[in-house]
Amino acid sequence: MIPFIDLKAQYREVKEEVNAAIQGVLDTCQFTLGSEVLAFEQEFADYCSAKHGVGVNTGTSALHLALLAAGVGPGDEVITVPFTFVATISAIDYTGATPVLIDIDPVTFTMDAKALEAAITERTKAIIPVHLYGQSADMDPILEIAKRYGLTVIEDACQAHGAEYKGRRAGSMGHMACFSFYPGKNLGAYGEGGMVVTDDPEFARTIRMLRDWGAEKKYHHVLKGYNFRMEGIQGAVLRVKLRRLEAWTEARRTAAAHYDRLFAGSGVMTPKAMSYARHVYHIYAIRTDHRQAWQEALLAQGIQTGIHYPTPVHLLPAFAELGYRAGQFPHSEQAARQVLSLPMFPELTQGQCEEVVSAIKNLAEGSAEIGERIAAQSGHATQPQAQEVK
Ligand SMILES: *Cc1c(COP(=O)(O)O)cnc(C)c1O
Repeated sequence: MIPFIDLKAQYREVKEEVNAAIQGVLDTCQFTLGSEVLAFEQEFADYCSAKHGVGVNTGTSALHLALLAAGVGPGDEVITVPFTFVATISAIDYTGATPVLIDIDPVTFTMDAKALEAAITERTKAIIPVHLYGQSADMDPILEIAKRYGLTVIEDACQAHGAEYKGRRAGSMGHMACFSFYPGKNLGAYGEGGMVVTDDPEFARTIRMLRDWGAEKKYHHVLKGYNFRMEGIQGAVLRVKLRRLEAWTEARRTAAAHYDRLFAGSGVMTPKAMSYARHVYHIYAIRTDHRQAWQEALLAQGIQTGIHYPTPVHLLPAFAELGYRAGQFPHSEQAARQVLSLPMFPELTQGQCEEVVSAIKNLAEGSAEIGERIAAQSGHATQPQAQEVK
């Protein structure tokens, strides 16, 4: 059995330190915010090459508060991509602003900067590039356009702890950047967590207030705020785990290198790490037109996979109100049909990578045969669809 992710293996490695850290919070009773959260905020901001960190309860809250701090509200527009986790769009929706979607680049799965300028209107306030799967969006053209139009850039770095773009850390490029510490993320809490990092002291100050009922000091509420505080136990756990994040990231990159090498020449479409990027492989997604058949066959052989994400946000029932149609974002829609996420976690061994790749190569050879047979039957060369393979 090769799991998609193995949180237990990681817990075994840090168990003693984490248990002691949790015990420390219990002893001091600093259950919400407190000294562990304060220390973690600074350590994680340093890790991102940013000046300030504000810990919150989830990555979604981080996005929500970053948008509010940027002054985004009803009547405004925020540009992002449909090929992301739904939370990116939900956070925009919470502010009352309208999400405006543009397509992704088909190679990197991140925002196509060439589509950005045409989407800007007088109402546009902010842009949220998503560093999907652990690879930074192509930030230079995005930042250049944002500067020209006076727009705020908020990085959705929820999948990109430690990722780099031309030597710059995710979290240090936009006006603000948002991270998630959901347990399955590259740096995962033992519960929920999130953070906004920024170089701007005013944004940091505003978000600090917004996460704690808009209070400047106790009971003096100067803004309409929220209860989005980070828990003391999560701060303590995350401090312990942050010390290992670089080693875990290198282990993910090593596993990805095994996959790349083993797939080389097989014709299987593997993810492309751009020369500008330090890809941190939150997800290692291959692409196939036979996804459902492959996923089922792999599971039957004890190999768990995932799909991130099967439906682009513009086609989700929850966001039908945005009025987009199928066909509007072809690269996002094709990615959503084809991507298949392979097992990826720091403890994944070379042997396990070999097992996964050999199973997929066998499937790829089988699919090619079926594809040729269908082409021969119909008298012309077609790409077989997943349904036809089943
Ligand atoms: C996980 C994730 C979020 C939301 O983070 P939570 O901590 O689950 O609220 C937002 N955007 C992206 C791209 C994510 O992967």
